[in-house]
Amino acid sequence: MSRYWSDIVHRLVPYVPGEQPALAKPVKLNTNENPYPPSLRVLDAIRAELGETAESLRRYPDPVAKRLCAAVAAHHGIRADQVFVGNGSDEVLAHAFQALLKHDKPILFPDITYSFYPTYARLYGVDYCTVPVDAQFAIRVDDYLPENGATGATGATNGGVIFPNPNAPTGHALPLSEIERVVAGNADSVVIVDEAYVDFGAQSAIALIDRYPNLLVVHTTSKSRSLAGMRVGFAFGHADLIEALNRVKDSFNSYPLDRLAQAAATAAYEDTEWLETTRKRVMESRARLTASLAALGFEVVPSAANFVFAKHPAHDAAQISAKLREKEIFVRYFNAPRVNQHLRISIGTDDECDTLIEALKTIVG
Ligand SMILES: *Cc1c(COP(=O)(O)O)cnc(C)c1O
Repeated sequence: MSRYWSDIVHRLVPYVPGEQPALAKPVKLNTNENPYPPSLRVLDAIRAELGETAESLRRYPDPVAKRLCAAVAAHHGIRADQVFVGNGSDEVLAHAFQALLKHDKPILFPDITYSFYPTYARLYGVDYCTVPVDAQFAIRVDDYLPENGATGATGATNGGVIFPNPNAPTGHALPLSEIERVVAGNADSVVIVDEAYVDFGAQSAIALIDRYPNLLVVHTTSKSRSLAGMRVGFAFGHADLIEALNRVKDSFNSYPLDRLAQAAATAAYEDTEWLETTRKRVMESRARLTASLAALGFEVVPSAANFVFAKHPAHDAAQISAKLREKEIFVRYFNAPRVNQHLRISIGTDDECDTLIEALKTIVG
């Protein structure tokens, strides 16, 4: 607290990211990073960008990352004017809150979801209502349709809708037909589908952007492409929505992506073989870890993401997490209503998952 702070800073409740422990070899299953290194083409691209003398760093990067946007558009079979790029998808989401969700009605998102959404809503003064997921943590699409009065307190419409698919931290995914019902049923507001984890087993709503001018799909290179350290995220949608994001971006930071990030992400999108191999490995490890957790008595939510959400009926989640931490094994615990007996466990290598399971045997076994 300080008398120099603005009013809004007094009121902010910042997002708390997962711990990045300063240990030599932690078993780090707490922030959904990919356990494998990025495509080797990424390393080559960064070296090529730097050259012998790093001469290129003297100059500002391309403010709109044209080459990267072209590579990503080609990968998804869309046009470059349907692509926005930002410094991590968190920045893309922040711009979307300001550019597309800030209206006079409350926006809707699930009660159990990415905890950055309420943070951005408070930062930008966006009113919101949370919509409960069902007892199995599934998003109920009917609850988002204005025709069913889905709005909280204020009438028959909302100021926008945002949710991840697959949802975080549950891993629960909706099929494309259900996503389409939300988008089609909210033609008067923007629907944002945050697909941070889509490559690990869900269907992408990018297939719908040509037909629905109110749909924005958000992607990141942090999870499935192993580039969390590079900070590159995207939004895909109608050119008018993309222009809105660019207007906010150019009122904030004209150069959100540095030269190395642009080179790295472009190379990552050009290596589809790497993506296919890696995501399959992660999905196989997910099945293996799910079975091992179930054998120890954990209830595991079926996951389409690179993490699982699990609870043990006889052991307190906070205590399990603390005991794992003593063994330098990190998982994510959220002390929040409805989920404070669950742990979110990122899918590591099979060796890391085995280390976790051995530790859990001594804790709950
Ligand atoms: C990880 C994550 C992001 C943010 O990813 P960055 O691109 O690294 O900022 C966005 N949404 C969800 C749901 C996430 O889990």
